[in-house]
Amino acid sequence: MKPKVYVELPRDFFHEDAVNMLSKVADTLFEPLSKEEFEEVIAESSAAIIGLKRIDENFLELAPKLKIVARFGVGYDNVDVEACTKRGIYVTITPNVLSDAVAEHTFALILSLTRRVIEADRYVRSEWAKGEKRFPLGVDLKGKTIGIIGCGRIGSQVARKAYGFEMKILYHDAVRNEEVEKRFDAKLVSLNELLRNSDIVTLHVPLTDATRGMIGEKELNLMKESAYLINTSRGPVVDQEALTRALKEGKIAGAGLDVFALEPIPLDDPLLKLDNVVLTPHIGSGTVETRRAMALKAAENVLYALKGKVPPDLVPEQREVFLKQT
Ligand code: NAD
Repeated sequence: MKPKVYVELPRDFFHEDAVNMLSKVADTLFEPLSKEEFEEVIAESSAAIIGLKRIDENFLELAPKLKIVARFGVGYDNVDVEACTKRGIYVTITPNVLSDAVAEHTFALILSLTRRVIEADRYVRSEWAKGEKRFPLGVDLKGKTIGIIGCGRIGSQVARKAYGFEMKILYHDAVRNEEVEKRFDAKLVSLNELLRNSDIVTLHVPLTDATRGMIGEKELNLMKESAYLINTSRGPVVDQEALTRALKEGKIAGAGLDVFALEPIPLDDPLLKLDNVVLTPHIGSGTVETRRAMALKAAENVLYALKGKVPPDLVPEQREVFLKQT
């Protein structure tokens, strides 16, 4: 009998090439499933490819045969890695293949704000031809300063693109990134210095105990009134209530957000009433090419685990533990 692989995505969201790759050696089962069907499937599954589902003791209790939790993405704040490690379950991510897509989306948000693209679209549809009011001016990116908080895989690609726009680059990270310093003339600074001096502040840190609420009222107050905040990392990195207040009171010029405290963001959330925000539904990696590459990477990791081999894209916390055993 073939091993079973549970995929927490609808079949049409998981690329056909990855389905074919898995189908050769496993039975692959997709959402949507009823609660009963899910419990039946997960009880028999050797591998789980997961989106944003919480993987904790409760989930693992239902999944006694699991060898691997393969995240379809790179953030793994929804996975209790320690609980998986205790049970000998690998946790993997899909690094690098999505960095460019998220960096491009970061610039989609930045340019939407600085060139007022959403507002301009509404103006063309309802006002331009009336000739009553001129469209307000935007601001240049060339010569402006971008502050990158978290300059890892995605942050580095944001730096590369910002360099192309001839922006000055500041970054803040727990670890120095000499490559972005050398290649893109980026400068490592303290968080406060970055907030005070940037025209665009963009977040690319993982959600951890140290980064939860990293941008709150105090940090927003340090930013320039003309500055924009971009968040494509994780919602809870920003205190969303403090951000809503800062945007209402004009303490900063605007925000571009792909991630939220609660997803989907409720329709009555006060952020949705503001004009100086551009909001997208957690689609940083959402391109055809990138989602295919992510599906192939997740499938590859699963195939390793099913063959009894250590998968290539273990989360850092597990590298020591499992690589030592080989
Ligand atoms: P990465 O691990 O390569 O980079 C993260 C960087 O943050 C590292 O350089 C690390 O040193 C730094 N960092 C960690 N904690 C810090 C702290 N307390 N202070 C300062 N710096 C700190 O990760 P990545 O691949 O660049 O991804 C970053 C995050 O982006 C992911 O964890 C995920 O949450 C988010 N993400 C979002 C989407 C989306 O669709 N919006 C898609 C992919 C990733």
